Amino acid sequence: SIYLDYNASAPIDSRVLETMMSVYTEDIGNADSRTHEYGDNARNVVETARKQVASLLKVDTGEVFFTSGATESNNIAIRGLEEYADTTSKHHIITTSIEHKAVLETVKHLGNKGYEIDIVAPDEAGRVSTDEILRKVRDDTLLVSVMHVNNETGIIQPVEEIGAELEKRGVLFHVDATQSCGKLVEELQKLKYNMLSFSAHKLRGPQGIGVLVLKKKAYKLPPVKAITFGGQQEHGIRPGTIPVALTAGCGKACELALNEYKDNEKKTESIKKEIMKILDESGIQYQINGDANSCISSAINICIDGVASEALMLSTKQYCGLSNGSACTSHSYSPSYVLSAMGLPVERIENSIRVSWGPETDINLLKENFSELINVAKSMVW
Ligand code: PLP
Repeated sequence: SIYLDYNASAPIDSRVLETMMSVYTEDIGNADSRTHEYGDNARNVVETARKQVASLLKVDTGEVFFTSGATESNNIAIRGLEEYADTTSKHHIITTSIEHKAVLETVKHLGNKGYEIDIVAPDEAGRVSTDEILRKVRDDTLLVSVMHVNNETGIIQPVEEIGAELEKRGVLFHVDATQSCGKLVEELQKLKYNMLSFSAHKLRGPQGIGVLVLKKKAYKLPPVKAITFGGQQEHGIRPGTIPVALTAGCGKACELALNEYKDNEKKTESIKKEIMKILDESGIQYQINGDANSCISSAINICIDGVASEALMLSTKQYCGLSNGSACTSHSYSPSYVLSAMGLPVERIENSIRVSWGPETDINLLKENFSELINVAKSMVW
């Protein structure tokens, strides 16, 4: 079968797995142990991984903090500002309605505590407007949080312009780069931001590890404090034993991404062309959700006329892993909040499906069976 849900989680690269296996078997120990060589070795593994992450993003190693994943990174980036907010009386946050729930729910949590929240909606093309975001900035704006690439549509957001302007105005900017890290490498290296989150498993690293980058400005880190307590690991920003092998896997995935992103991009682009050809040759009526020209090369969100996405997922279950809506909400079968925010009608959302792939995806099976699968899905009463 073909796995077409890379945006939910990409399969681990065998070279990453090898690196991790060798750490699990050879570099045992706690990276915080100072009394024996086991600790020193584990610490070296973690620091090598930190360098690999830093190289991919062109940041200092002192700006890289390991977390359990983008969800935790987003939580720390946002909730970690509470103390600073209180000391500066800045209690206004701007974000967008298409963020991952890890941002949206965290921001809403602060909203319940009395923060003023502005949530900017995208246009029908799936992009938020730089002007609209900047117009909302006030003297008491604590933070602007905008994702780089949307996980459901693959649409690239104008974070470059937003970041450049916010830097001039001295407003803190957080970017959820979970879907772009390791893919839009040069864009991220140039990007102006204060905080950035990602999860290793979206770039073929292991699940359960992620990174929060805190960029130093004038040698100072953003005013983020820990949201959990119990240790001094990661400079107290993320207490708890560092999962050494996971950091090694995260680092290796970043190293591979840096070496291979150009090749990967060519491959994912050509897979997209093939998928479009399959769609065009099948004679079905379909529409792409969001502006195809602003979409990442490894994903697409399409509406197939007359085919309920639930039916399509059932009919294709043995052939390919597809999804409609974000993975975390796909068990609830509620219409995608991202497509709703873009103003798409419910009927269109119900017929929409997210397809995402990697450079090594072989779509021949899809090619051979597509028309039949569509017919089966069409025949299902929904
Ligand atoms: N942010 C975005 C844009 C995502 O796509 C995801 C995962 O789907 C996350 C955050 C959360 O990542 P994790 O579940 O690995 O913490």
